Amino acid sequence: MSHVFRTPEQKEAVESFRRFLSDKVDPIFRHEYRDNGLMPKEKMRELNQQMTEFGLIAGAVSEANGGLGIDFLTLTMLFEEVCACATDMSTVVLINTFAAKMLDLLAPVHIKDRYLPGLLSGELFGCMAFSEPDVGSNVMEIKARARRDGDDYILSGEKCWISNGSFSDFMIVAARTSDDPRKGLSHFVLDRKEHPYEVKEIHKIASNSQSTAQIFMDDIRVPATNMLGKEGDALRNTLAIFERSRVFVAAQGLGLARRALEEAVGYAKERKQHGKVIAGHQLISAMLAEMATNVDASRLLTYRAAEMIEAGIPAEMEAAMAKYFACEAAVTITRQAVQIHGGNGLTKDFLVERLAREAIIVPIPEGTTQIQQLIIGRALTGVNAF
Ligand SMILES: Cc1cc2nc3c(=O)[nH]c(=O)nc-3n(C[C@H](O)[C@H](O)[C@H](O)COP(=O)(O)OP(=O)(O)OC[C@H]3O[C@@H](n4cnc5c(N)ncnc54)[C@H](O)[C@@H]3O)c2cc1C
Repeated sequence: MSHVFRTPEQKEAVESFRRFLSDKVDPIFRHEYRDNGLMPKEKMRELNQQMTEFGLIAGAVSEANGGLGIDFLTLTMLFEEVCACATDMSTVVLINTFAAKMLDLLAPVHIKDRYLPGLLSGELFGCMAFSEPDVGSNVMEIKARARRDGDDYILSGEKCWISNGSFSDFMIVAARTSDDPRKGLSHFVLDRKEHPYEVKEIHKIASNSQSTAQIFMDDIRVPATNMLGKEGDALRNTLAIFERSRVFVAAQGLGLARRALEEAVGYAKERKQHGKVIAGHQLISAMLAEMATNVDASRLLTYRAAEMIEAGIPAEMEAAMAKYFACEAAVTITRQAVQIHGGNGLTKDFLVERLAREAIIVPIPEGTTQIQQLIIGRALTGVNAF
């Protein structure tokens, strides 16, 4: 693996985390929860807490709010390790990380005090609900409503594809407070117990030990003080978070591709056909070379965007490039890994079967590949092609 670590401490942090994941976490997702449905929350919580012991989630939050304030490149490297081990675990960490980051940046003190300590210790789960059945790429068209009533808002509507939905203790939800397309959306925090939203699990092609859910709000009364940021600022605040969260989804693609490459290299050195190991056939060697080059290209794009964000340089285009390239590369590389495994690659006995199913997911959330292309095109030409 061609990592270029910036400091010895960074190298030690990443490598000791990799050893831990390989020993303790990989077997759980490789065998026990491979296609075994939703993991019980208690079990997922235990794992989530273990992730925080290595700096995840708290690493994204400022020290002023109880976090560790780890630099974003190191945090991305640590996150890549989770992604190369278990996509499902990485999604839980990703959502809790950015729920914590949103509270860190936007929440009033009483909300921070209530949820941040539990999120940072891995005890609590958040979820973030923007998408709806008819609203995916077009976030400006959100239909869920928040109607002012005295000191409260009354929320109604349906959300879709919400990661961590079934696990969530609270939800950050975007709802319409006015009809203005750009300034009509606001964020609210709903507590699962106090403002009971209904959750229904969605079954996907893969990654079902982690939750993806529909969420229903039926005239839920929420105090106005549960608003995150200012009224009408949800779109702006969501777009501000996307730069970082897209780097993390790029790292999911990178982790999947890296793991598929490792599996393919191992198999190609063992499997014999035509009197020699298949690694000795030039077409297999060329395929492995292409896979390795694309894994490294994914890593370089992902780390560059992370470094720019850490340095405070606007990185909307670079985060889009990383997300676009690494997630599409993951689909190609995991398919190539299946191809190198031949028929065995289609069976549950080999990890690449799971990796290929997981890879097909990552080009969709956090802005599809096409949306990333439109962002890059707009940055290049100044012309909006949405
Ligand atoms: C596993 C998973 C987890 C998710 N987690 C969350 C979550 O936690 N919270 C949340 O709010 N949402 C979540 N989402 C939703 C995700 O953000 C949306 O699925 C995504 O934005 C795409 O929306 P859509 O699925 O409605 O597709 P659509 O927007 O309907 O797109 C359909 C197709 O049309 C293309 N398309 C759309 N607009 C254009 C255009 N202008 N030009 C060219 N092509 C276009 C798209 O690229 C796509 O190929 C998740 C989705 C998945 C799959």
